[in-house]
Amino acid sequence: MSLAPQELENSASKYAAEAIRLDSQGSRGMAIQSYQRAIEALVKLVQIYPDYKLNKVYMERANAYQNRIKALQMSHGLEDDRPAPIESKAEPVNGNGKGSAPASHKSANVETLKADFDDLVMKDKPKVSWDEVIGLDDAKRAIRESIVYPMKRPDLFPLGWPRGILLYGPPGCGKTLLAAAAAAEIDGYFINVDAASMMSKWLGEAEKNISKLFTMARKLNESEGVPVLLFIDEIDSLLGQRNSEVGGEVRVKNQFLTEMDGINGKSKESQLYVIGATNKPWSLEAGFLRRFQKRIYVTLPDGASRTNLFNQYTRPLNTEGSLKIEELAKIADGYSASDIKDICQSVQLRVVNELFESGKAMEANANPRPVSTTDFREILKVRKPSVSVDMIRAYMRWSDQFKAL
Ligand code: ADP
Repeated sequence: MSLAPQELENSASKYAAEAIRLDSQGSRGMAIQSYQRAIEALVKLVQIYPDYKLNKVYMERANAYQNRIKALQMSHGLEDDRPAPIESKAEPVNGNGKGSAPASHKSANVETLKADFDDLVMKDKPKVSWDEVIGLDDAKRAIRESIVYPMKRPDLFPLGWPRGILLYGPPGCGKTLLAAAAAAEIDGYFINVDAASMMSKWLGEAEKNISKLFTMARKLNESEGVPVLLFIDEIDSLLGQRNSEVGGEVRVKNQFLTEMDGINGKSKESQLYVIGATNKPWSLEAGFLRRFQKRIYVTLPDGASRTNLFNQYTRPLNTEGSLKIEELAKIADGYSASDIKDICQSVQLRVVNELFESGKAMEANANPRPVSTTDFREILKVRKPSVSVDMIRAYMRWSDQFKAL
């Protein structure tokens, strides 16, 4: 089975992000390997899909990585062991595949900017309701207070309201889901950007693209008069390695801070919001944090939430009437919401698998048996929580110091 272009592109992006991280840490050999893998994925992509619209951009990107490999190999022979700075000739990868140079702030019109970020702006609003987001009452309240209510009745906020919200906490607990629920409620645009892939895709160009991204968000808000919600996942990747100029992370960070200041200093009419999400809040420095007036811990689910999660994710399944949800919620202490969803999925896979193994799956009206509490117990035994106790302690320590509700 061949991979879809999206999957190959994701894998190229992943290797490129890894390469840039290693590169900025000075791990030359490993960085070269990762650049090489990114190139291989891109070349494969072009070979499998010769007519794909982004091929030109992919090849340019592969060339940029190749140049970087050469620079690293050359610097290896020099006495000064530091890697040469990234000198990418690659154009930014844009959704329209044109790879055009960023337009200046003043001349950029909204349509061009929109086309450039076409794959990032969601035209169909996410269909996530607040009820589907289990638990996280503080986070829901803070988002409603800072985004939803000011948007509906700006006149009730004479002192203004926060425009930047940082969601932090372990992976799989609902940061993205919360942003989607907020977007579903606003009548405007939702721009969803993954900072890690932005840094890798736009090797050496990230800073210009940040400026372009904010310009587009501002213009959408001003020209169409509708709220714009910019969701930036893995926002810590914008910071990269401190004090390192490799990849231009310092410039990227400064650009981002400037843009955030622009938003925070805006008049009451401005309806541009930024929700940043991170699993590594400790890598954000004070200047960065200050720009997010609300900092909300998106925690592991507590007992009641785990019960609700099991209820929510077993609802579409054929279960034995006597499923002991409370007991399962107790056993699943320490598991993330996403772990619980995966467990429910694994249990269903197990009974479907049994049906196929029995050879009866293709018979008329053949159905898997109902899932039982024992199935869940057994899956829970072999599937450990994705977040360690030490990690949770680290989140709590950080939260005690920096949370801002
Ligand atoms: P994060 O952004 O914190 O890493 P996500 O919001 O992407 O986590 O969660 C991944 C998936 O796990 C979601 O799409 C959803 O199916 C499930 N999930 C996570 N948190 C919750 C929650 N609080 N309530 C219901 N489902 C959740």
